[in-house]
Amino acid sequence: MKYVSTRSKIAPISSAEAILQGLSSDGGLFVPEKIPRITQDEIGELVNKTYEQRAAKILGKFLTDYTEDELGECTELAYNWFDVPMRIPVAVLIQDPKNPVAPVGNMELWHGPTSAFKDVALQMLPHLMRMALQKVGETKKILILVATSGDTGKAALAGFADVPQTKIMVFYPEDGVSKIQKLQMVTQTGDNVNVTAVKGNFDDAQTGVKKIFGDKKIREELDKLGVKLSSANSINWGRLVPQIVYYFSGYVELIRSGQIKLGDNVNVCVPTGNFGNILAAYYALKMGLPVKKLICASNINNVLTEFFATGTYNRNRKFFKTITPSMDILISSNLERLLYHESGGDFKQVSRYMAELNSLGKYKIDKKLKDRLDKIFHAEFVNELETRDFIKRVYGSFKYLLDTHSAVAVAALSKYRGKTKDFTPVLNASTASPYKFTNAVLTALEQPVEGLDDFAQIKKLFDMTNFKIPRNLAELSNKKILHADVCEKDEMPQRVLDFAAK
Ligand SMILES: *Cc1c(COP(=O)(O)O)cnc(C)c1O
Repeated sequence: MKYVSTRSKIAPISSAEAILQGLSSDGGLFVPEKIPRITQDEIGELVNKTYEQRAAKILGKFLTDYTEDELGECTELAYNWFDVPMRIPVAVLIQDPKNPVAPVGNMELWHGPTSAFKDVALQMLPHLMRMALQKVGETKKILILVATSGDTGKAALAGFADVPQTKIMVFYPEDGVSKIQKLQMVTQTGDNVNVTAVKGNFDDAQTGVKKIFGDKKIREELDKLGVKLSSANSINWGRLVPQIVYYFSGYVELIRSGQIKLGDNVNVCVPTGNFGNILAAYYALKMGLPVKKLICASNINNVLTEFFATGTYNRNRKFFKTITPSMDILISSNLERLLYHESGGDFKQVSRYMAELNSLGKYKIDKKLKDRLDKIFHAEFVNELETRDFIKRVYGSFKYLLDTHSAVAVAALSKYRGKTKDFTPVLNASTASPYKFTNAVLTALEQPVEGLDDFAQIKKLFDMTNFKIPRNLAELSNKKILHADVCEKDEMPQRVLDFAAK
């Protein structure tokens, strides 16, 4: 299996090279030349396997330059950190009591070290990268640089900690992250990690990191130290491919719990931001997972809802900050991969759309492409009132807690079912633990939160619901603070060089 770019004709490269390069030099994203197929028998064989075994099987279809043993090792190391043996269990909710044959399987993607779904990929990427270095004969160390507004920083730290031939350095805005987010980062163990606060806001940290990536002199200095810069960016193929796995795993979990039979159709509903998670579902569908419809759920930053309804992607609009911050996005980068595949690999057309997005802030896809997308996707958006309402309703009906992002998906699904009367069983991507967004969840349950700090809110939600607190959050207040460094934004390059030399 080789990889090509979405924007021009390049000589196909191996998956190891695609993972190390991250982004193609023409600005495009790496995509598999051909999407591999899976048979119904092969899906059936996954039923009695562990999550790690299911992952190794699916990854093997895309990462053909990795051996079975290597993928087995990657999946073991990535997922032993998840705090339930199932890794990604599926909680079955029957959404409509009048229609008990229409289950909603809520895939809990949040049992990893930071209690959100990005762990699924970020626990895997470092191992894929480390092995990729060996495969291409690279002897330099890779230094991952991250600027974070809170969540990605911790997820990347947890993934890269103590992974050979890598180092990771995270900059966060000193006063721009929550108390819990900060504690999660500054207590990170590992000999190859550094966490530094930047005096300023997230933009200062991000601009600083971008400057370092673009600075030839720093790269030369690093080169002398035997270090190469890299990022753990969400458009890296190595972050996308681990996400394809859980749609298969979720499907066979529904078989195991007797909700569906092998070969039955499901719909998949995904709370969407950068379009990575739902694109992974698209790959699963194209491989042969029996999926009828992909439901793309957005908050009031509804650029994707409009795109799927009209065929025009228009980022020229007001930006809203919501209770689902991980979906507050106006440019969904991974959409480019979908356009590439559904246009039959027409990189010229994809380049034109992306150039228009860059210069005009919008593009309109042609009718043929729009018709193809209509067959696969349905998009809905949900406001904050509806989001809170679904947290309350689902808790009331099932004594089950959804976080805000997962509630957007369930609410969008309800709209979809109302409009189409399509009661196919659903796999819902539940992307964060409710304890990650405790304040909003308590508010949705009509509980006062004034005067309660993050930890007090967690305790209150637990006392009220008895819903299990994730291990990483429960242990957080006892952990030792290991990183107290603070720097000015123009000191960032020197800090990077100092850490690289260590
Ligand atoms: C990142 C994130 C999303 C959006 O996922 P995309 O792959 O960017 O579409 C949804 N929910 C949570 C909790 C997230 O962290």
